[in-house]
Amino acid sequence: MEKNDIGIIHGTEYRAMTKKLLEWADLAGMIGSKDKKIGLKPNLAVAKAPESGATTHRELLEGTIEYLQEHGFGRISIMEGSWVGDSTKAAFRAAGYDRVSERYGVPLVDLQRDSFTEYDAAGMKISLCDAAAEVDFMINMPVLKGHCQTAVTCALKNLKGVIPNSEKRRFHTLGLHKPIAHLNTIARNNFILVDNICGDLDFEEGGNPVVMNRILGFLDPVLCDAWVCGSMGYETEEVPYIGLAERLGVGSSDTGSANVVFLNEDAAGTAKFTMTGRVKRLAGYVEPEDACSACYGSLIYALDRLNDRGLLSKGAGPVSIGQGCRGKTGNTGIGRCTELYEHSLGGCPPKAVDMVKFLEEHWVSEQ
Ligand code: SF4
Repeated sequence: MEKNDIGIIHGTEYRAMTKKLLEWADLAGMIGSKDKKIGLKPNLAVAKAPESGATTHRELLEGTIEYLQEHGFGRISIMEGSWVGDSTKAAFRAAGYDRVSERYGVPLVDLQRDSFTEYDAAGMKISLCDAAAEVDFMINMPVLKGHCQTAVTCALKNLKGVIPNSEKRRFHTLGLHKPIAHLNTIARNNFILVDNICGDLDFEEGGNPVVMNRILGFLDPVLCDAWVCGSMGYETEEVPYIGLAERLGVGSSDTGSANVVFLNEDAAGTAKFTMTGRVKRLAGYVEPEDACSACYGSLIYALDRLNDRGLLSKGAGPVSIGQGCRGKTGNTGIGRCTELYEHSLGGCPPKAVDMVKFLEEHWVSEQ
């Protein structure tokens, strides 16, 4: 796997998908010696089940541990420090990690209770939990989701879980963006396995999950977060910590030079799913016919961006999407399945950021 590669796999067999993606990336070759200490860093900011859109699905951990154990790696631990105000222990239980730990014999490390050491992070003093600093290889497993302060959260921000509570509080007083960028100059982040199964629309605590049923693999955390911006309808510049991290040499935000590899044979899988709250309201603007979850989920994010700008207030004809639109005609359609529509955005699936521009031009203006 090269630094500009992005691996994408979709479906609902999350454990098997994880293993397939790790085989493609040749994670074992990347780690090297079987003696290496490997850390798995999920997103358990809060004590909530992954279905809420807030936390990493346990199947990603199971698939990763099985892959590592089958390749002869034995020094694995799952580590996290939940946000201030929630107990990591409770978060481990809520996400079912206690059972994962028992089944595979992999310890859970509560970083809220760990000792820590201060480092120079490119000119900024930052304390890092010792257990996280001691691993040889860190697999970062963030949830792709919205965030009330930083708009998006994924690879770069997920590492906030490897600092002590006192440091988390300080990060907030510093406005998050700068310290997150600096933290990424010292915290290990060797491989990024993104849980894009059902991350929340706009809130790190969950409540409005957007089902996408995807798992993504990256080597570069800056590329990861820049790509995530596009998949949620944002420009990279709208999330300052990404550019700051790039300027500190953490990685590259050049998504135009990325090599995107789809690991499924078909373009994207369709799946039935339940929508709640705000996601359901946004879906009221859509007329889906056998829509793939990745396509539909991207459209939900795009509609939310238009909503942010007050552009969803007037009545408009529905936006068509899905494989059932193939060969049909209509007014406004998303994805190559709607290529015969009067206004159609190509791509399979198109990115949310492109959907925003397309809908602004061909749909909002016609309302
Ligand atoms: S364009 Fe059609 S096939 Fe492609 S992701 Fe969208 S709905 Fe699925």
